[in-house]
Amino acid sequence: MSRKFEQLKEILGEVSDLGTAASLLGWDQNVSMPPAGGEARGQQLATLGKIAQEKFISDEVGMLLEDLKNEFDPSSDEADMLRVAARNYAKAKRVPSEFIAEQAIVTTKAFDAWVEAKGKSDFSIFQPYLEKVVELVQRYVSFFPPADHPYDTLLDDYEPGMKTSEVHEIFNALRPKQVNLIKQISSAKQVKDNFLHKKYNEKKVWDFSETIITRFGYDWNRGRQDKAPHPFETAFSVNDVRITNRFEKDNPLATLFSAMHESGHAMYEQGINPAFDRTPLSGGTSLAVHESQSRMWENLVGRSLPFWEHFFPQIKKLFPSQLDGVSVKSFYKAINKVEPSLIRVNADEATYNLHIMLRLELEIGMVDGSMKVKDLPEIWNTKMREYLGITPPNDAQGVLQDVHWSGGSIGYFSTYALGNLVSAQLWEKINKDIKNLDDQIRAGKFDELLHWLHEKIHIYGHKYDPQVLVQKVTGSKIDPAAYVRYLTKKYSEIYGL
Ligand SMILES: [Zn+2]
Repeated sequence: MSRKFEQLKEILGEVSDLGTAASLLGWDQNVSMPPAGGEARGQQLATLGKIAQEKFISDEVGMLLEDLKNEFDPSSDEADMLRVAARNYAKAKRVPSEFIAEQAIVTTKAFDAWVEAKGKSDFSIFQPYLEKVVELVQRYVSFFPPADHPYDTLLDDYEPGMKTSEVHEIFNALRPKQVNLIKQISSAKQVKDNFLHKKYNEKKVWDFSETIITRFGYDWNRGRQDKAPHPFETAFSVNDVRITNRFEKDNPLATLFSAMHESGHAMYEQGINPAFDRTPLSGGTSLAVHESQSRMWENLVGRSLPFWEHFFPQIKKLFPSQLDGVSVKSFYKAINKVEPSLIRVNADEATYNLHIMLRLELEIGMVDGSMKVKDLPEIWNTKMREYLGITPPNDAQGVLQDVHWSGGSIGYFSTYALGNLVSAQLWEKINKDIKNLDDQIRAGKFDELLHWLHEKIHIYGHKYDPQVLVQKVTGSKIDPAAYVRYLTKKYSEIYGL
């Protein structure tokens, strides 16, 4: 291997080390930092980010990338590593460092304003700050060559290669089907779930969550689960992939599903080719593909009947009084209860994507200027009525509920919905390849499933772009048909549609 390639890999390795060190500071901030540590931590993170950025966009990296352009067979890992590094480099070079500094200041203030606005349920407090954020985002887009749609540039940061027109096409096909399904469900006999909201012992729920994800195949020798305000997954190398979780008294079993979700992300990271560590090919290929893994373990596995046919006797033994008189069937129905609700993060599988589509339409409107920030609360409420048949009583439970926009993250939301779609596409393929998967799940066996995901998805890390990978594995690009089939079948059985 050429000396120049080794030289480049060494620099990229150091850039990656700075990034993972920052991630570790972030993990600590959420898990164990005392409350007063925030200001210093912000400075530490800014310093690490600045050093990493300077190291990465140096002329030396630029020259090495140029010299190595045609060095390797295009199908080799080395060529993909160079391709991804060159793309990241070209992007990073376009954004002036003064802009990054300004963005940090604007979003810090916007975040504080959002917290206050949400607390007082008053959008007018957040409005001028969101207007500044939108201006910044539009300026960011202007650093790049014109795309078909300005939103393409933003989307590309989260879903490399994905176009706004593709997302539109997918969501336009999906929306009427989901709206129709929800209408049918709302006129059917409703499901009882009161036993899910009784008092459950936190330690027992937490330990049971670990029993489940151990069985999934989450490797504790290379991972851990800690308590934090929000569940998330973070990786510092293929051998150190951590998850966090929380316990909510009024929704105690959510801890189980969060553990399944985050372990899905984590098993993806644990499964990536170790040779990709400290290179641009480390980590999952995109947010949507990442979310397809977490959603698969949480929903397609963890909210399925075969899964609970195995685990229900165990949870019933742990909580005999809470689940007294409850059958596995009624438990299964309860954890899949559909209820149009105001808050995205609490939404069930049938309604979740509609929350996303609404946000996508608003984001596109903000970015291309067809919607004014001041009109967002009204537009939000109108769309909530149209899609879910409910009207938020206030802005805190409406347009102000998510943190993303205050941090300048515009372009992110659609990846959640796309992840759902990919999970169902993969699931159909997996069930063709593993004929008795339901029986295996019913027996509490997940090794063949994890092995399949490992071989087809995980091992490749960032080698393939998301649409390329999905096409390679399933034979088609991201497509809503499998998800619609999955939802329709599942809810027709549960609600007798
Ligand atoms: Zn996730």
